Amino acid sequence: MQPAEAESISDAQGEVDQVATLSEMVRGCRVLHAAKLTTTVWGFVAVRDATGRGVWITRDGSGFDEVGRNDIVLVSPTGNVVQGGVEPDSEGALAVEVLASRDDVHAVVHVHSLHATAFAATNRALQAISHEGCHLVPPEMARVRWSGSANGTQEEARGLAAALGARNSILMPGHGLITVAENLGEAVALAVYLEKTCQLLLLAGDDVHTISDEEVLKKRSGQMRRPSISWEYLERVTPASETALA
Ligand SMILES: [Zn+2]
Repeated sequence: MQPAEAESISDAQGEVDQVATLSEMVRGCRVLHAAKLTTTVWGFVAVRDATGRGVWITRDGSGFDEVGRNDIVLVSPTGNVVQGGVEPDSEGALAVEVLASRDDVHAVVHVHSLHATAFAATNRALQAISHEGCHLVPPEMARVRWSGSANGTQEEARGLAAALGARNSILMPGHGLITVAENLGEAVALAVYLEKTCQLLLLAGDDVHTISDEEVLKKRSGQMRRPSISWEYLERVTPASETALA
């Protein structure tokens, strides 16, 4: 194979990979909206670029039910837009810093969902009382404040990434939640799990029977309970938007 031909095939494959990434992000947005994790235009979905150019982030000011492939931009590791004609989410620095701090993570979901935001405002520890919670704790759920787009700085974003540590999720009092995973589908499923866990704990009250750490770890080891199984289901039952994928 001649070098020029190899380059051409590589470019074509890169284009295919990029379209696949953006299409998956659109589907992730639709699932988050269908799962009622959205609050008007707040929150974002972010995925690490497969070729190392930075992070794909949904645009600022659009609801998850509105996002199409043209509403996603590529942001460099220093926060500059390198591809796309719209502004990235104003809180995109969170995704950039989290992905910079975690080689094992390739996707970040941030939402201001109702029950997670309510539970984040309490002083209660997040406990596993259902299958969903078993994917989240242990380790102990962390809470960290984030000022939001008006005042949030890159330094503050780095602080949130440090508080997240090796966890797959974090609660943000006065704000919402973040989940991370090796792929977007699992990050979306974890966001659904965290919202549901917070809702259950708020319904159940303070005095609850929890699932032991030993049982939690046993449940997690079963591959059928991986978050990807939930993602595949959610993707199947969420109506596609042909317009968004055009
Ligand atoms: Zn936010």
